[in-house]
Amino acid sequence: MRKLFPAFISLLASFFFLSAGAQDTPRKPIQTLIIDPGHGGIDPGATGTLQTEANVSLQVSLKLGDVIAQAYPDLKIIYTRTTDILPGNKPTIDAALKYRANLANESGGDLFIAIHCNSAGKRPGGWYERRVVGKTPKTKTVKKGKKTYKKTYYEYQYENVWVENKAKGTETYLWAIGKNDSKINSVSKNNDYTGEIDSTSTLSLPDPSDPTEKARMLIYTQNYFRKSLNLADLIQEEFKDAGRIDRGVKQRNDKGIWVLQATGMPSILVEIGFISNKEEQEYMLSPEGQDEIVRNIFSAFKKYKEKLESKSAAAREDAAKKPF
Ligand SMILES: [Zn+2]
Repeated sequence: MRKLFPAFISLLASFFFLSAGAQDTPRKPIQTLIIDPGHGGIDPGATGTLQTEANVSLQVSLKLGDVIAQAYPDLKIIYTRTTDILPGNKPTIDAALKYRANLANESGGDLFIAIHCNSAGKRPGGWYERRVVGKTPKTKTVKKGKKTYKKTYYEYQYENVWVENKAKGTETYLWAIGKNDSKINSVSKNNDYTGEIDSTSTLSLPDPSDPTEKARMLIYTQNYFRKSLNLADLIQEEFKDAGRIDRGVKQRNDKGIWVLQATGMPSILVEIGFISNKEEQEYMLSPEGQDEIVRNIFSAFKKYKEKLESKSAAAREDAAKKPF
């Protein structure tokens, strides 16, 4: 009995400790949300005929934050910028990118949502292209030695043809080291490459031969990839239901989305539409269009949040059923 008694006490103590722990308010899966309006200040991002990507992204980001704050007053929302500056008022794009990631990490963010606009083609709106619109056969006399003969040739008629910048739709990017999921398209520079090209960025991506960076990449893949994918899918679903063109969820591992791999949390980058497309630019500038985009992202966020909360509640119930 003397030998058993201390063991019994410690068992009893751990039982009380566990019960007390279970009664505490559990940590909610999403307490801090980081909203990152792309570009800003000296970096306008892509340019439309009427507005820059930096400004449209900021307007939509602020509206999104307002809607989320109204629905979830307890949620902490942190913006990487709220005015037309580079985040942190940094002097360079790279320094601002680092600031975005550091702010997210140091604030203990549970989710990172970057808002951007896409762009494609030679010019926003459209451009003129010289095209052949007809040909007229002509003959000319050619001399070859002592002989002369007639040769047919064509005179071409050209016209400047207006080419509309037609690329449109929405897509959501997430960071992936390899081809983690066959359902997602990998984007390469040669294949349908649009949008985020931080060509000025000299920031490097994690080097897998460095053990510390390799460990960080592994953590990202194991803990954050699925969640990012889940939210990205939900967002594209909402856009599709609203009648937008769904260009899909795309995984990338190039510098254009450097910030996604630098944030130690699930993180996605939403391309809300093509600013280079006249029709989509108008939509993204209109209050109705912005409201719809915000509603779509909000609905997806709500579903994502609820799913995470029900998962963690289920895990707590499981733990409560078998405390020892
Ligand atoms: Zn952008």
